[in-house]
Amino acid sequence: TASSNEEAAAKNAVDTSGPTIFDKIIAKEIPSDIVYEDDNVLAFRDINPQAPVHILIIPKLRDGLTQLSKAEARHCEILGQLLYASKIVAEKEGIAEGFRVVINNGPDACQSVYHLHLHVIGGRQLKWPPG
Ligand code: 5GP
Repeated sequence: TASSNEEAAAKNAVDTSGPTIFDKIIAKEIPSDIVYEDDNVLAFRDINPQAPVHILIIPKLRDGLTQLSKAEARHCEILGQLLYASKIVAEKEGIAEGFRVVINNGPDACQSVYHLHLHVIGGRQLKWPPG
């Protein structure tokens, strides 16, 4: 997995949109608190948590998925894998009974990292509607 992670990060770096901080996390060049990993996705704790549990789930290979609005039919499999991983992560974290999955898409939604990611948030009573 280590060498395939480096490979994925290198491919992401030459993707037309340029690298993001998440490539360094995938390549383990900067540390992160990883809670789940498989061949396709990586889940790690958000550095600035908005709830007791706040985990980011990303595709290891960005493949043009800088944001959800860039999704194409070829991404359907990884999109499903990401959503499924959110359930696995929620179970691991003991919040399966109540959690939220968020994708911020673009400036109006305050997206700050242009490598698709799901936020898995929980561990407290969440409010609705979100801000
Ligand atoms: P966005 O605002 O794009 O939806 O979410 C990006 C998230 O990435 C933010 O919640 C931010 O705290 C998190 N983040 C940014 N840089 C790092 C980092 O270096 N490590 C970790 N673990 N999270 C980060």
